[in-house]
Amino acid sequence: MSAQLVDQLRAERHLTDAQYEILLTTQDAQTLSALRRAAVEVQKKQFGNKVYLRGLIELTNYCKNNCLYCGIRRGNANVQRYRLTEDDVLACCKAGTELGFQTFVLQGGEDGFFTDARLVPMIRRIKEIAPHCAVTLSLGERSHESYALLREAGADRYLLRHETADPDHYSLLHPAEMTLAHRIKCLQSLKALGYQTGCGMMVGSPHQTIAHLIADLRFIEQFQPEMVGIGPFMPHHDTPFRAYPAGSADLTLRLLSIVRLILPQVLLPSTTALGTLLPDGLEQGVLAGANVIMPNLTPCAVRSSYLLYDGKDTAAKDTVDLLEERSRRFAAIGYEIVHQRGDAPAFCV
Ligand code: SAH
Repeated sequence: MSAQLVDQLRAERHLTDAQYEILLTTQDAQTLSALRRAAVEVQKKQFGNKVYLRGLIELTNYCKNNCLYCGIRRGNANVQRYRLTEDDVLACCKAGTELGFQTFVLQGGEDGFFTDARLVPMIRRIKEIAPHCAVTLSLGERSHESYALLREAGADRYLLRHETADPDHYSLLHPAEMTLAHRIKCLQSLKALGYQTGCGMMVGSPHQTIAHLIADLRFIEQFQPEMVGIGPFMPHHDTPFRAYPAGSADLTLRLLSIVRLILPQVLLPSTTALGTLLPDGLEQGVLAGANVIMPNLTPCAVRSSYLLYDGKDTAAKDTVDLLEERSRRFAAIGYEIVHQRGDAPAFCV
């Protein structure tokens, strides 16, 4: 019955609110397996059985923001704060290139220390030692001028999840000084500057409703991002949201499949948060339509200080072993982790 909705979504890349609601809430097993199957068909048609690798480098856990969900929020006095030096970052990239990584993601809190004057030479140096690699930034909201300078310095992509496309819900997750309107303005700047741009949301964040998720899908339809980050909300013990339950894995997987059908070419990570929620979450994400994984390359000594939520894997693992383990796990489900930049198709030269 509502399996037809899946065909319609695949053909039109768009549904009505009521139709999205059915896909997000139905318990009909046939519809759910049709959704999963269609998403994997589209994923395989676009990317074959390839899973792209991104090396995540957690640059700083200083943050001027106080997002209610996030473990490194300004108000958490129990965090031991750190910043990586340029040499630290270059060492991570060098080690990463030797293992075949061709994308490095510099993620961090909004840390005033990392001015353009500090980031521009850092990005340039990465590009010098690894000219074939893509640099992705995920450093939060900055000015248009700053995004322009970082782009000029060589940054290729930028991840800035919109977190929720509903302004009232946004204000329940963030302090008053942060607005959805400003976040979206940043996303528009990034896109206009030629970044491969990623938005995205948490699933099951406190006070979220199905209507909010439908608004997220509508935003994704309209914004047409190159990347979408979707992961379950996970509580952190030192935040105001400590007592809220984690988001649902099932709903996260449905959303991955739906987004794959809305944007067939999208770069869609199977997120760390999903891998935290379920022991085989990374595989399940890929089997729902995701095609990117982001192993952690952050120096082991500071990993445990970048705790966005409880349970996040901060163990000191050897990257060689980790990659071997991941390759085995993905091979077991018929996928291959590949050493390619994995640009959005429209950006491939
Ligand atoms: N400062 C950057 C990077 C934020 S961390 C920025 O503003 O974009 C990257 C992502 O982790 C966030 O966008 C958020 O969606 C996610 N995140 C933060 N806390 C989380 C939590 N408690 N559970 C699940 N995801 C979380």
